[in-house]
Amino acid sequence: MKTEKKHYNSSVKKDCLEMIEKARWKDGVFCPYCKSQEVVKNGWDDSDGVKVQKYMCKHCEKTFNVKTKTIFENSKIPLQKWFTMISLLGTNSILFLSEFLNIAYSNAYRMAKKIRSVISVEEGKRILHGDIELEIDEMYISSGQKGEKNLDRPPRKRGLRANRGRGTFEKDKPAIVTFVDRNTKETMFFVLEHLSGDYVIDKMGRHTDKESKITTYTDEYKMYSKLESAGYQHKVVNHSFEYANGNIHINNCENRHSLLRPFLVIKRGVSKYNLQSYANLFQFFFNQDLRKPKVNH
Ligand SMILES: [Zn+2]
Repeated sequence: MKTEKKHYNSSVKKDCLEMIEKARWKDGVFCPYCKSQEVVKNGWDDSDGVKVQKYMCKHCEKTFNVKTKTIFENSKIPLQKWFTMISLLGTNSILFLSEFLNIAYSNAYRMAKKIRSVISVEEGKRILHGDIELEIDEMYISSGQKGEKNLDRPPRKRGLRANRGRGTFEKDKPAIVTFVDRNTKETMFFVLEHLSGDYVIDKMGRHTDKESKITTYTDEYKMYSKLESAGYQHKVVNHSFEYANGNIHINNCENRHSLLRPFLVIKRGVSKYNLQSYANLFQFFFNQDLRKPKVNH
């Protein structure tokens, strides 16, 4: 039985290594230190119970393997647990994952943090292309320094300024600005320390293709009037009188907000300092799903 289990474990490890290889080196092996593709095979690493191909870079003369400079490098946690963690992190708490994977909470916490940080880097590079019909809206999330559980309050009433439920980062209720491209359904969240029209325009500049034709849709909140002065086409929903006027609406943003709130509740209270990386995590899983065909049962 023991040998069978050992054999099974090493074959799972091999599968995991192959998956990393396919994802990382789809365009060929390159050196993680200097990015050179001038590399040669250089023996094997088998410290982990599985043989891992080692390489040497002809350019910088460093040696590496497929895990070098990834979140998996030097980790005592088996790769299959990392993979399970990545796939379940979107919808489960760290406490649950530590029990499910039978690892210490501190390890699960560190793994989740590393995963969120690489996902944040990737999502931070997201650029919208083509004709962009960009809905923009903001929401506020109660999240203190240690996190707070009171995330499931009813949505704010529209149209009444006094009830906009605006908060600030300092008051532990940071604003999240949401972008949804109606054409691709791609979604982005930005946790802003200081909410302003300029900040929104700055984010648009960073995350949209310079060649794109962009039409923006927002509600009547004053800061969005800056979009026009910045040269963007701007269509405004007036929530005081109507919910949506033809194609002038921000329903996609409202939808993302209604999904992000419960997502954060599952995370059992998120500190405002980690809020961006959690929002990125949601964004990552959401945008990944857009690529998959919907299954009809
Ligand atoms: Zn190199």
